[in-house]
Amino acid sequence: MKKNVCRLLLTAALLFLLAACGTEPEPALTPAATAPLPTEQAESIVALETPTPSASRAPAPTLPPTPIPTPSPTPLVEGDPVITLVGGEEYAYTADFTFSDPGYYAVDWRGNSLTDRVKVTGEVVSYLVGSYDLTYSVTDDDGRTTTLVRHVSVVPAELPEIVMPPEKTVYLTFDDGPCGNTAALLDVLKKYDAKATFFVIGNKTRTDMITRAHEEGHSIGVHTYTHVYKTVYKSEEAFFDDFLKTQEVIKAATGSYTRLFRFPGGSANTVSRFNKGIMTRLTKIMEDMGYRYFDWNVTGGDSAAGATTDSIRKRIITGLKNHSDFAIVLQHDIHMNSVRAVESILKWGTEHGYTFRALDLTSPVVHSKVAN
Ligand code: ZN
Repeated sequence: MKKNVCRLLLTAALLFLLAACGTEPEPALTPAATAPLPTEQAESIVALETPTPSASRAPAPTLPPTPIPTPSPTPLVEGDPVITLVGGEEYAYTADFTFSDPGYYAVDWRGNSLTDRVKVTGEVVSYLVGSYDLTYSVTDDDGRTTTLVRHVSVVPAELPEIVMPPEKTVYLTFDDGPCGNTAALLDVLKKYDAKATFFVIGNKTRTDMITRAHEEGHSIGVHTYTHVYKTVYKSEEAFFDDFLKTQEVIKAATGSYTRLFRFPGGSANTVSRFNKGIMTRLTKIMEDMGYRYFDWNVTGGDSAAGATTDSIRKRIITGLKNHSDFAIVLQHDIHMNSVRAVESILKWGTEHGYTFRALDLTSPVVHSKVAN
């Protein structure tokens, strides 16, 4: 009997426990968990969730900016001066008339500027494609020296690709002007809606003709300032000086520089032989610097003694027939006989399907074989 009572009590206790476990209510949410989050915190949480591609979802708000930690002040550490090279230690420079250093600065370990004390040695030949070293050296008040080397690569300028024009394209070119004859020439070109190219000499007075030619759609190229062979072919630097002076004249007359030019005497001249190899060097250098030179494949022979308007016209028309792909024609507007031949050339050309265009950087070139 006693045993049964115990078993009953035990069973009852077990049942009670089971019932209590099964019905136990979830713990009530604490006020802290159910209260709305402060706006900023809520936004942070939303933004940090993995975005789901749901159309109904509002776009994730932008994260507030991350505060930048304030660096603890770096204690000054005694050491060598520091040189910083603007543009870096490996520096590519497009070939040009002059080289301009991209700059540098130097400080000692106390933070004082030493830039004024930096010594730069070495040379960059700005117009010659190649590799050069410049050495930068500075010594601080304590006698500590830092030296850095900059490797400069002079690289060729990029020129636009040449585009072959349609057949029977003629590029009339007029050298050694501008002059009093140029106006009549421009009139006749206008009458036939023909474009041409003027390789001008910088020291001529009729620069108004350069302006007019430019405004009427013709191209302007450099033919040097003096055209004096002994002057322009004396050295590379002498050629550049002369060339750049002409560029200034052209800029003043047209508002911009040109990248077209023709060597006095052409690139195959022998008049420059007093300076051995100058044409071989200049023809490469000028193209490396982004200028394009043009010789010719047709000439009127207008500089020859005894040249007449008729001889010039005949010679050019024969030339055009022989160069039906494209022709670059050499004439000089300083010779009135040559200017007089232009109308009949334009008339014949127009009737025979030729078009007269101005040269540009995409025009085909004619380069004669360099003879010096
Ligand atoms: Zn000339």
